[in-house]
Amino acid sequence: MAEALYLNDAYIKEWTAKIVSVNDAGNGRSFIVLDKTAFYPKGGGQPHDEGVLIKDCKEYQVIFTVKLSGEISNEVDNNGNEPLKQNDIVQCKLNWERRYRLMKMHTACHVFAGVLHKETGAMITGNQLDIDQSRIDFSVEQYNPEKLIEYVNKANVILNEGHNNKIYYLDKNADVDKFLRLAKGLPPNITNIRIVEIEGFDAQPDGGTHVHNTKEVGRIMFQKSENKGKNNRRVYLSLE
Ligand SMILES: [Zn+2]
Repeated sequence: MAEALYLNDAYIKEWTAKIVSVNDAGNGRSFIVLDKTAFYPKGGGQPHDEGVLIKDCKEYQVIFTVKLSGEISNEVDNNGNEPLKQNDIVQCKLNWERRYRLMKMHTACHVFAGVLHKETGAMITGNQLDIDQSRIDFSVEQYNPEKLIEYVNKANVILNEGHNNKIYYLDKNADVDKFLRLAKGLPPNITNIRIVEIEGFDAQPDGGTHVHNTKEVGRIMFQKSENKGKNNRRVYLSLE
């Protein structure tokens, strides 16, 4: 199984890897598994990473990254070059602009969801991060959409305080239910629970990538809200 570099260091932008397997995807594309990777596979509401693989000065575009049967697989456009082969050594480069923006969005959403949960007891029922705006779905009995702007303002105060993000792991038997905000709970077969802690504010089990310090996010802005029933209130946020 590929070593997922992004789990312990979200700031790795370039690395060297060996190709474990190549499968033809047709149309001049291949599915490639690397022995170690910082390309984040789409999941947990965080979109996939993009970037390039470089061999002998030739660039191969990484256009999609996904987990397939437990392996992190990259869909690669050969750019008209001869396809890469198993055991090839490649230089890997992340599209950092895209990823860094998603990291800021991810931390921003944790801070907003933390404020929302503390203020209303809301549980998070879904989320989708994206480059321009991110969506958070939540369930709460008493719904006050006009309060959402107030919570965004509170989240901005927290972000501006400059809290560090800390990553660590807890045993699968650890009692995370007492602080978990996810309505659906954790996946059943988890062995190690990865925690993202915004020091002095909040800790959540999470598999995504985050900035080191909340100040990096800047400010978030309220975009709009929707009400699709008790378990599906929705808020859209963007970065200033
Ligand atoms: Zn998260």
